[in-house]
Amino acid sequence: MLASLKSTNHHVDSRGAEAEACIQVDDLQFTIRRSARRRTMQITVERTGELILSAPPEVGIDQLGDFVSEKRFWIYTKLAEKDRLQRKVPRKEFVGGEGFLYLGRSHRLKLVDDQDFPLKLVNGRFALRPDAQAGAREHFIRWYSEKARVWLSGRVADYQSRMEVAPTGVKVQDLGYRWGSCGKGDWLYFHWKTILLPARIAEYVVVHEIAHLHEPHHTPAFWLRVERAMPDYAQRKAWLAEHGIDVEGI
Ligand SMILES: [Zn+2]
Repeated sequence: MLASLKSTNHHVDSRGAEAEACIQVDDLQFTIRRSARRRTMQITVERTGELILSAPPEVGIDQLGDFVSEKRFWIYTKLAEKDRLQRKVPRKEFVGGEGFLYLGRSHRLKLVDDQDFPLKLVNGRFALRPDAQAGAREHFIRWYSEKARVWLSGRVADYQSRMEVAPTGVKVQDLGYRWGSCGKGDWLYFHWKTILLPARIAEYVVVHEIAHLHEPHHTPAFWLRVERAMPDYAQRKAWLAEHGIDVEGI
């Protein structure tokens, strides 16, 4: 799967782990989780911003404190990043002149009195019938979903033989914070908003999910497979991590 919000390591492991005390180092507070199965200390920043310090049972409080102090810079960087990624993208109002993305380009919205469809893209503008304005968000999602299904199916067809897979097909839906996922029966799922991304970035999402048909996890073998199909994938991946959040504002 490919998360649209840059997700942090999220190790929730209740078996053998027990929530314990907290440790405070300067302005940072950590929940300590001890686990007998753990050999090393690890800090994770949860989605909520909560800091978890995982450690083997025998590690003393001084050693925990030292470890946290060493990692302080990394923690502040992570927290700042999370803050930036979670900033609110303004919601659309669906009024004339407002811009809407489609394959990386912004198209202005225009209200058009008489047209056959409630919403369409004409001469580089989104044309919306005023009587459809109240349900505009749903019209956009339907429009995006249909375009996404056709476009993404085309890209899957381009890559599937090269990547030696035969996916069952493409389904487009709201996947929450994920761009894509591959499910049972070798179906590929994509979020409808993938079609808002620039083409080369959406193409990376496609290659990423196709590679998962071979390798379910982000192992070195997985990334090698992605790289073989798309040698410059790293740049596209970085772009998505940095800017992907900006396309969520519909
Ligand atoms: Zn993935």
